[in-house]
Amino acid sequence: MLTMKRLLICTDLDRTLLPNGIQPESPAARPLFRKLASKPFVRLAYVSGRDFQLLREAIREFDLPEPKFMIGDVGTTIYHKPGGRWQSWPEWHEMLGGDWPGAATGELAARLAGLPGLVLQEPEKQGRFKLSYYTDPKLDSVILKNKVLSRLENCSIKVRSVFSVDEVNRVGLFDLLPETASKLAAVRFIISRSGVAPERTVYAGDSGNDLEVLTSEVKAILVANAIEAVRRQARQEAPTGTLYLAEGGFMDMNGNYAAGLLEGVVHYLPELGPVLKNDMR
Ligand SMILES: [Mg+2]
Repeated sequence: MLTMKRLLICTDLDRTLLPNGIQPESPAARPLFRKLASKPFVRLAYVSGRDFQLLREAIREFDLPEPKFMIGDVGTTIYHKPGGRWQSWPEWHEMLGGDWPGAATGELAARLAGLPGLVLQEPEKQGRFKLSYYTDPKLDSVILKNKVLSRLENCSIKVRSVFSVDEVNRVGLFDLLPETASKLAAVRFIISRSGVAPERTVYAGDSGNDLEVLTSEVKAILVANAIEAVRRQARQEAPTGTLYLAEGGFMDMNGNYAAGLLEGVVHYLPELGPVLKNDMR
């Protein structure tokens, strides 16, 4: 049997691995992804805006393979299961707690109360390190961000904001997070502790909250169902050689969702092409 060096696949869920967007999914895509994920050399990390419960729900509902790591709440939580049971990774949460005290979300929410265009999301969507709002998806995110920042002037809590669009529910999502928390920072944390070489790590995403990873040093894949604005921005900002735009055609699939992820994995690691083709039979 062919021995392969370890591979770490980090992937966003909604509209990247999960076919819950408006575009169709190639029927072969997820079964093939499941086969790849079951190989002993593959480590899997899900990276999502979802919280722990919603992550577990997605895995059940869409019959996804069990990952080794889960990054939730847009990078503010990391879970692993050292003893076979899921638990949050204390080292990560201690790092974030340093610049985001327990009362931070309450103070930020009070400062932003009544700001036109921002509607607080449901309590279950809020987190220890995340304050989340709904917005108009057509809103100019730069103007919104500036309005928010001006309300937070002289505030000791250092925040970063992430804007993305849920195209199915036609709603904008605006998250405030600790400055040091992000999908990228959490992915880097996992890479550094996974035992997998950085050059054997890939990341797949589709939307605004993936852009930071899509345009970083991490080998990234933008699935074909991504909207044009994200595609354009990713292409403009990514360093040479670390962004692959899935376009379909790989193994007769359309490049959307899991098909795009697989297409990108084989782009970066061509030696996996024959492995996947063998699985397809
Ligand atoms: Mg997504």
